[in-house]
Amino acid sequence: MAIRPMLICGPCSAESEEQVLETARELKKLVAPDYFRAGIWKPRTRPDSFEGVGETGLAWMKRVQDELSIPVITEVANASHVEKIAKYGFKAFWIGARTVANPFSVQEIANAAKGFDFKIFVKNPTNPDIDLWCGAIERFQKLGFEDIVAVSRGFYPFAETKLRNLPCWEIPIELARRMPELKIICDPSHIAGDTRYIAEIAQQALNLSMAGLMIESHCCPQNALSDKNQQLTPTEVKNLIGSLKIKKSAIDDHNFEMELETLRSKIDVLDYQLIDILKQRFAITNEIGEIKKSHNVAVLQIDRWKKVLESRSKYAENIGLSRELIAALFSEIHKESIKEQQ
Ligand code: PEP
Ligand code: MN
Repeated sequence: MAIRPMLICGPCSAESEEQVLETARELKKLVAPDYFRAGIWKPRTRPDSFEGVGETGLAWMKRVQDELSIPVITEVANASHVEKIAKYGFKAFWIGARTVANPFSVQEIANAAKGFDFKIFVKNPTNPDIDLWCGAIERFQKLGFEDIVAVSRGFYPFAETKLRNLPCWEIPIELARRMPELKIICDPSHIAGDTRYIAEIAQQALNLSMAGLMIESHCCPQNALSDKNQQLTPTEVKNLIGSLKIKKSAIDDHNFEMELETLRSKIDVLDYQLIDILKQRFAITNEIGEIKKSHNVAVLQIDRWKKVLESRSKYAENIGLSRELIAALFSEIHKESIKEQQ
């Protein structure tokens, strides 16, 4: 049986003792999350936005942990936050997307956390820089922390999209390749930015074997002081969880393994053929380069390139392949040919 992914739920921000406790009670009853989240110190883009209730909120979170037995978690951005949450009995914290981009802050937090037994969640930075994300994780690993979870919360889109942040799934996939032991979970709320898209993002994350979900939930989202459009009610979280197809990363089934292995070995053969064909293609473009050079002809022949791009994309489309994929692939190949011919 597939195990349920780790579930972290709670409001974007702690706003009042009632809001924190009511949301936590409902969540406990409906989905029994593994952690209850709420932001205490909120990093906001503009200074006049709600910046969190600060230390007072820690006492409300402590009540959730003590009275409802749900471990609590919040965002820390400096050493003093770490010291304060330790005082209130927190056993976990996360580093937000803005803070993780600053190695000085990450190091300061890691130093302050040393000596405490924290589980540490590291969100990705808003810019798609995997080294920055890895670097933050490594700062904790170097100090001996072993219980670290990466949180994929999407990347700043730079252009108009229906989503608040782009998932750029290739980045958490690359993180999993580089750090195979690391747990990676997804925060579909901050990717979606809108309750309408949370389910599809959460399902995509599970399809990629992500180990859990951090979902913003508020007892009364329309009154939320931050991230109002992306917070689900606890009942909506329950429905969302019920609708997700929980994928297994592998199963203990010999026939399935055999079938997968047979297909994978076919892919292996085709991949090497692809590389060999590319090698032959580059040998010819290099030859063309020599002829151009000897006749003093420019490397870039834009009409020929336009024809190649159009004909290959069209052919791909006709046989049911993505036009964009083939166009992107040939753009890369062409770029390399031009470089080689210089
Ligand atoms: C949050 O979780 O409420 C938050 C501010 O997240 P992020 O740092 O991913 O924007
Ligand atoms: Mn939020």
